[in-house]
Amino acid sequence: MPWEFRASCPDCSHEWEAHTFTEWIGHSTSDTPVRRFFCPNCVTHVSIATDFDRSSFRNWLHGHQHSLSASEFLSHNIGLIAAICDSTPGYLLPLDSLWSQLYCPPCDTPLIEGSMDTHPITCPNCGKCNAQSHGCHAHVSVLREVDDQT
Ligand SMILES: [Zn+2]
Ligand SMILES: [Zn+2]
Repeated sequence: MPWEFRASCPDCSHEWEAHTFTEWIGHSTSDTPVRRFFCPNCVTHVSIATDFDRSSFRNWLHGHQHSLSASEFLSHNIGLIAAICDSTPGYLLPLDSLWSQLYCPPCDTPLIEGSMDTHPITCPNCGKCNAQSHGCHAHVSVLREVDDQT
């Protein structure tokens, strides 16, 4: 679900609004704890269920093929998880060996653990990764998409 947020850059005083997306690896309705990672450049987040075991992951992967092929971000990082699962033993997803390898292909940027609520993001004006988001204030883009279809 895309959310609109406002951000400002202390270096060049640029202020802007943009959308942030969260991709899910696992079930988005789950109450179980997740680890969040994000790209500071395009502010795409990914939430990974920490109790997701490998056979559930395979099943989930099988049911989400079309959304994976639509997202370079997701297909890259899920391909990485699948490759690590194939080469290491274990029951749960190997998140500890995984987290430092997650990557945003469109931005050519490694993912950071956390979210834009706690880490600086990249300013589209000056390019410095020192800007602060001021939180999501609306999911208006979703409402607009719904309106367009009716
Ligand atoms: Zn990115
Ligand atoms: Zn700036």
